[in-house]
Amino acid sequence: MADVSPQADWVNSFADEVIAEAARRAPGKPVVVASGLSPSGPIHLGNLREVMVPHLVADEIRRRGVPCEHILSFDDFDRFRKVPAGVDPSWAQHIGKPLTSVPAPPGSTHPNWAEHFKAPTAAALARLGVEFRGISQTQMYTSGAYVDEVLLAMRERSRIDAVLAQYRTKPRSAVADPYIDAAAGSGAGAEPAGEGSGAAADDDGATSTGYYPYRPYCAACERDLTTVTGYVDETTELSYTCACGHAEVVKLAEHRRGKLVWKVDWPMRWAYEGVVFEPSGADHQAPGSSFVVGGELVSAIFGGWRPIGPGYAFVGISGMAKMSSSRGAVPTPSDALEIMEEPVLRWLYARRRPHQSFTIAFHQELQRLYDEWDAVARKVADGTASALDASSYDRAVRTARVDLPRTPRPLPYRMLASVADITTGDSDQMLRILSETDPGRPLSSLDELQPRLDRARCWAMTQLPADQRTRLSSEPDRGALTGLSPAERSSLDLLLAGLAEHWSLEGLSLLVYAVPKLQAGLGADAPATAELKAAQRAFFALVYRLMIGRDTGPRLPTLLLAAGQERIRALLSG
Ligand SMILES: [Zn+2]
Repeated sequence: MADVSPQADWVNSFADEVIAEAARRAPGKPVVVASGLSPSGPIHLGNLREVMVPHLVADEIRRRGVPCEHILSFDDFDRFRKVPAGVDPSWAQHIGKPLTSVPAPPGSTHPNWAEHFKAPTAAALARLGVEFRGISQTQMYTSGAYVDEVLLAMRERSRIDAVLAQYRTKPRSAVADPYIDAAAGSGAGAEPAGEGSGAAADDDGATSTGYYPYRPYCAACERDLTTVTGYVDETTELSYTCACGHAEVVKLAEHRRGKLVWKVDWPMRWAYEGVVFEPSGADHQAPGSSFVVGGELVSAIFGGWRPIGPGYAFVGISGMAKMSSSRGAVPTPSDALEIMEEPVLRWLYARRRPHQSFTIAFHQELQRLYDEWDAVARKVADGTASALDASSYDRAVRTARVDLPRTPRPLPYRMLASVADITTGDSDQMLRILSETDPGRPLSSLDELQPRLDRARCWAMTQLPADQRTRLSSEPDRGALTGLSPAERSSLDLLLAGLAEHWSLEGLSLLVYAVPKLQAGLGADAPATAELKAAQRAFFALVYRLMIGRDTGPRLPTLLLAAGQERIRALLSG
């Protein structure tokens, strides 16, 4: 494993190691890195790390001019495990069928369950610049691509069983037939939903009738409630029974409706595809896990090597309570791309080493993230960024082959969100206000602010809680205005007197901080003392109360620009 010190660029370190290892294993062949996704349900933002870690390494390898292929296996020949909430309970009849044999959720335009969840993922990956070769495991198994490997695994079943036995912690009977128990017991929902690829890790092929690493889907009911009852190596005749009552003998060399159990399937594919790098979730890395066991099986049985495979940590999501409930509670990459630009989402994955967990915020924290992103972009532009910041920024904004879409004039996200909020997203008003932020560089159209403006507008419309929305008061608060102290009145008059002269974002920023200083008899450029800061806070709160009826709000210069001078005078004059 690469020595990835905190100062090192983890992508570079893995690229070094992967290129060297690939040259040892298969000189002259393209480097192969791999990801696996299970289209058993929405592929959420956490799963995206499974793709982004190898993508970034593959991209670095390509940047160096070394041919590299990123394969993305869709485990769509896995069984349908559970009917998710919100789907017609009658889908329970399909539990145990391959995901590609289950009808898509009601209302879908896709041909089956797996395609319904693969399609939006593939679309989001394309937007993110992720170049990959998608592999349908249904297609691979049903075309017979793995026949030799399946026959090999069956021939070597007692050796496989012996390797697995070293790691089995539960008595065999406890792991024998979890699927049959679930189906015959309380039915749909009895089994927990899988998390990503290979969730059915407990089923290693051990049954009450012996060890068989191959599980057929039943020819009568299509489900995998089957038990292999015998196998003859010479003829490849495999006999099985199914919970539905069906029993038959098939010729495995010609059989296409079945698959190797996960712990054997994964190492088989490492050898078949020549995978040199494939990360996996931390849960796959424990002793006895599929990665560890697979590492033994790939060399002992399939004559291949275990990939370099760092474990990656959890990606948390915070503050997405208002997302569409039709897609479930967990946001997908497409959801994130509705509120942030492609390079920013790439950056989140690029700047953290795989073993570091991080959180993707859908609430106010996103504005702080954008401030940080803009600060790094400025440092990169003027050459003051650290080497690490510069490289993660570069990995975010482009790949070896494409430049990701960038906003020509990246105005601060928080300002765009505030203006969208105050104007309820009205384009004409936004153009007027945003043009006035910098009179020296007026906007010809909102296009200069895209795609960032649309993401910020979407954020304001979908993520900002109702009690944090900003609504300008339509009428002055007469009671409050007549109750002002003389000092408060004079502070507002100083603000009003300076408005026209300071009508830009920068000018108004100077003005609102200067007012309390001028009141104290100081110059506008006097250094801020604790006393002055308190006076500034009190002054800001006064303006917020009179303009929007709250003590806080969007940054004051943005609010003033959005309101316009006429409205400000109406709300703040005596
Ligand atoms: Zn059956």
